[in-house]
Amino acid sequence: MTTIDQSKAPFAMPTLPYAHDALAPHISAETIDYHYGKHLQGYITNLNNLIKGTEFEGASLEEIIRRASGALFNNAAQTWNHTLYFLQFSPTPQTLPTGKFAAAIDRDFGGFDAFREQFTRSALGLFGSGWTWLAADAEGKLEIIASPNAGNPLAEGKTPLMVVDVWEHAYYIDHHNARAASIEAFWKILDWKVAEARY
Ligand code: MN
Repeated sequence: MTTIDQSKAPFAMPTLPYAHDALAPHISAETIDYHYGKHLQGYITNLNNLIKGTEFEGASLEEIIRRASGALFNNAAQTWNHTLYFLQFSPTPQTLPTGKFAAAIDRDFGGFDAFREQFTRSALGLFGSGWTWLAADAEGKLEIIASPNAGNPLAEGKTPLMVVDVWEHAYYIDHHNARAASIEAFWKILDWKVAEARY
């Protein structure tokens, strides 16, 4: 799904499939300018610098996430996490899952509304900075995973399908302290086609 080459360093910024102001009012152009333009760029710059001279010089982004620790893990995971995050939005999203993916959500959560409620509760309840994921295990069973800081389900052998960023930098410009309002806005621009394609 990604439009960046994650096979080895130096890693590059993903190209957004929408204009910076296209997700407004749910996510403003100013938030994209800072969150994508400054925060993500910062993680990628740090990552490329940290890799130099280490055993990870020829490693893929996913391999670094699975094997590295400390600052290298943090910047690699934040690069991966934000790439999935920014590429899953659309001003004209597919608003519901379909097909076998929709059936899996029904099977594992008891319906889409129940899934959405559990996912929202997880994102609201995550203390401090982090990410709430929808991920699949090797058998295709879906689960909601809350990860603090730069956490990523790849490190536990799971496949991330979609994610909400609950670091304050993701929502403070548009929603100030109101994380709940930011998650309501998130649902309006999440393109289920992207999550479905990853399943
Ligand atoms: Mn972020």
